[in-house]
Amino acid sequence: MIEFQHVFKSYGRGRNILADINFRVEPGEFIFVSGPSGAGKSTLLKLIGGLEPPSRGSVHVNGHRIDRMPARARPYLRRAVGVILQDMHLLYDRSAIDNVMLPLAVIGLDRRQARNRARAAMEKVGLAGKEDLNPVEISGGEQQRLAIARAIVNRPTILIADEPTANLDQETGRRILDVFRDFNRVGVTTLIASHDKPLMTSYASRTLRIEDGRFFDLRGVA
Ligand code: ADP
Ligand code: ADP
Repeated sequence: MIEFQHVFKSYGRGRNILADINFRVEPGEFIFVSGPSGAGKSTLLKLIGGLEPPSRGSVHVNGHRIDRMPARARPYLRRAVGVILQDMHLLYDRSAIDNVMLPLAVIGLDRRQARNRARAAMEKVGLAGKEDLNPVEISGGEQQRLAIARAIVNRPTILIADEPTANLDQETGRRILDVFRDFNRVGVTTLIASHDKPLMTSYASRTLRIEDGRFFDLRGVA
């Protein structure tokens, strides 16, 4: 569950990017976050992932008010929400599987268990056999899958992704969204920011649209 109540967001002393946003997302939904470039899609996702605090209002995730979460509770949020940002932040000084193991090291899982979990995550996104390659040695679509594997390795209940199909051809983009759909089918709440409305049509059943500082909560892909 995600709930925004009267959420405002500005950066520094700038204008409000988001103003008085209210919505609720139920477990298991697949949501398309749409709007023109610069509208605030990434900002919305970052508020859900606890990567940015709201300027005003409250954000609840799985029943916890995350905008007032003490520092010691951060690891819980990191486990609850899998985040895939536009810049995937892959590390190129280590293997693909070591990238996927990172979130498990953070929570203190021992290396053997972490390796097994990371291997399973890579298998789920179709990257079996690529464990020991460096991320530079795999394709753009595979790098996106790697970022997804790293985001789901902690078994989050929510997945948020910012333009996960940008820079990919149509066919590869579909395959990436199929990966998200597979996780959504086993109950993972999924929110994807994208410019590609035709592509999102076959996946999402609800759209949160931000445009000119206004917010629209729409059934279907709009
Ligand atoms: P979108 O994802 O829809 O392209 P963003 O959420 O990235 O939009 O950005 C919304 C607005 O907020 C833009 O005007 C952007 O320049 C601004 N912005 C985003 N991040 C920051 C930041 N860290 N500091 C200042 N301004 C920011
Ligand atoms: P405490 O540290 O208070 O003994 P917990 O270990 O259960 O209690 O949780 C630590 C913090 O993490 C609490 O503030 C709780 O609100 C938060 N928290 C626990 N589970 C989640 C979750 N799935 N999503 C978001 N926050 C959570």
